[in-house]
Amino acid sequence: MDKNILQVAVIGGGAAGFFAAISAKTHHPEAKVTIYEKSNKLLSKVRISGGGRCNVTHHCFDIRELVKFYPRGERPLKKAFGRFSPTDTIAWFEKRGVKLKTESDGRMFPTTDNSQTIIDCLMKETQQLGIGIKTKTNIKKLKKTEGGYELSLDRGGRLHADKVVVATGGSPRPNGFDWLRELDHEIEEPVPSLFTFNMPDEPIKKLMGIAADPVSVKIMGSKLQSNGPLLITHWGMSGPAILKLSAFGARELNEKNYDFKVLVNWAGEKTEQEIRAILKEVAGEYGMKMIHNVNPFGLPGRLWEFLIGKLELGDAMIWQNMGKKNLNRLVHLLTNDEYQVQGKTTFKEEFVTCGGVSLQDVDMKTMQSRKSPNLYFAGEVLDIDGVTGGFNFQAAWTTGYIAGQLA
Ligand SMILES: Cc1cc2nc3c(=O)[nH]c(=O)nc-3n(C[C@H](O)[C@H](O)[C@H](O)COP(=O)(O)OP(=O)(O)OC[C@H]3O[C@@H](n4cnc5c(N)ncnc54)[C@H](O)[C@@H]3O)c2cc1C
Repeated sequence: MDKNILQVAVIGGGAAGFFAAISAKTHHPEAKVTIYEKSNKLLSKVRISGGGRCNVTHHCFDIRELVKFYPRGERPLKKAFGRFSPTDTIAWFEKRGVKLKTESDGRMFPTTDNSQTIIDCLMKETQQLGIGIKTKTNIKKLKKTEGGYELSLDRGGRLHADKVVVATGGSPRPNGFDWLRELDHEIEEPVPSLFTFNMPDEPIKKLMGIAADPVSVKIMGSKLQSNGPLLITHWGMSGPAILKLSAFGARELNEKNYDFKVLVNWAGEKTEQEIRAILKEVAGEYGMKMIHNVNPFGLPGRLWEFLIGKLELGDAMIWQNMGKKNLNRLVHLLTNDEYQVQGKTTFKEEFVTCGGVSLQDVDMKTMQSRKSPNLYFAGEVLDIDGVTGGFNFQAAWTTGYIAGQLA
């Protein structure tokens, strides 16, 4: 090994590791850059991401707005996005022949609708730059040495690197971070994010497949609240409104052992007063019609019938006979419809871990550890995670780019 050549080791062959390695070699062509991946597969999450289409980033170019999609990392990411933002991601891929398109909800995918396009682009770039790749190489320990780091392999043997980028992804097991704790890094306990709610005892499950949009959902006894589409599934509730709650409430809901009540406002952000006023108007205009035949909030018909059924007014009840008491019950039902959650199901499209290396220990302008010089972090190993929509990859591209540039 030539001692005069700067050795950069990137641990982890996922999105963040590849971007870090490419950035390191692009900014420091004289360095020897090597990716060490423990499995025999590279970029495996990129392959399965976005249902095989890879939701690369999000069509959001205002950094102040962008950071709001990150339950963990919101403020610290401002600095990092200032250096590499979704605009840079789009330009980076486009420069290498990969065009991205935007869907109506802002998610951005390659125009091929195939994650292989992203993998091919990253693989080609690493080959062209002469980046080394070693698979089946599990780094189990890092030790600070005078000139850098000694990397211990789990199958025995040691490697030297002057600079190290750790891009090992999230770990659901707290002891998965022990080797980083040994270097004095604070680890925020990992818990799942982006999951759906199980409601084993709730009859609403019989409406599986029905979606309502927009609804407003609150967790009872907490400040957690979100708006957006809600999907009823055969095990409970899912959809963007639920996933957002699961991400922003990842830690709180874990503490509740996933046993809590949700309150649904089926009329979105409308207040009780607004709903009451609309219902009174309906009762005046359609007084002789049966309640289940007039659906003032445009809810799916089967859902409206289900909700009305909960009031047990009888099928023949007409609007003008409802009376004040029942009108109040209907207002309450529409705005505070209560469901018991018991358990969670991991959202198969885009599962991420909340927790990881504490951002207190990382300089977000450089991604360098504050505890251990010449050690950098990128991607989901950090205590950063976003909601669904391409935000998690954007964090991986951004932190990988910066770590590689400055390593
Ligand atoms: C099914 C699914 C779909 C998703 N879809 C999307 C999407 O469309 N858009 C989006 O933005 N996000 C999506 N995500 C989230 C996104 O995939 C992750 O946030 C992102 O892949 C994190 O990248 P990373 O490089 O930090 O970690 P990873 O992709 O997890 O890569 C880490 C790599 O490090 C390796 N490694 C770990 N420890 C060691 C070690 N000690 N030595 C050597 N190697 C090691 C691992 O084997 C792994 O290959 C999805 C996630 C899942 C699970």
